Amino acid sequence: MRQKIVAGNWKMNNDKEETKTLIEGLKKEIENLPLDNTRVIVAPSFVNLESAVNQSEDSNIEVVAQNMHQTKNGAYTGEVSADMLKSIGIKSVIIGHSERRSIFNENDEILAEKVDAALANGLEVIFCFGEKLEERKTDNHLLEVGSQLKNSILHIAAEDWKNVVLAYEPVWAIGTGETASPEQAQEMHAFIRNVVAKNFTQEIADNVSILYGGSVKPTNAEEIFSKPDVDGGLIGGASLKATDFSAIIKAI
Ligand code: PEP
Repeated sequence: MRQKIVAGNWKMNNDKEETKTLIEGLKKEIENLPLDNTRVIVAPSFVNLESAVNQSEDSNIEVVAQNMHQTKNGAYTGEVSADMLKSIGIKSVIIGHSERRSIFNENDEILAEKVDAALANGLEVIFCFGEKLEERKTDNHLLEVGSQLKNSILHIAAEDWKNVVLAYEPVWAIGTGETASPEQAQEMHAFIRNVVAKNFTQEIADNVSILYGGSVKPTNAEEIFSKPDVDGGLIGGASLKATDFSAIIKAI
């Protein structure tokens, strides 16, 4: 069933103590919220994942990884495999974040391999994609997003869609303070759902959660989340403060 999801991507922020404090703060903020059919997710750095999993055990917070390597094991210095994530209790992984694409040169082909490796290992994939400013300005945003989906995720088996969450993140809105308007988000999310319906079934498309990411804040979350095809958000900067993040969760 389609779920509401608010996910915080903590990127390369917070040491061990700061991570602990943030989770503790978030737990307090949301412990009494009626979170029916709403998932609250946080993605701390690799080194803080295990303690975050343990700390969140008795709460409604899920801990996920920000990335993983596509290979099972071997000579890949500095990388982390699906098996390693699973061994510390991780059940989901973010793949294709625009910073992985632009800074670490992860192209569509690599991301397709990561998607396959994660799904084959029973991990849920939170798959990120989105157009750059130039593509938006030249009215090529739908084309670009369609191509990113086709090249990295539309090849999966129909039964694997229950383990996929899509996150539309226009690159021009990530960390810039500029947000897609609710109408721009809705247009894109409806387009994405339609792409899934055309390539699979309407039922699969209706059940997949599609998150919006890009400068979501307590002040704009409610308007964006009110759109029918926006099922929640992937939040960067504003997820680093328990009060801001919980205000966004309350807006869902
Ligand atoms: C992100 O990095 O996924 C993101 C959406 O960041 P921000 O909310 O800071 O724009």
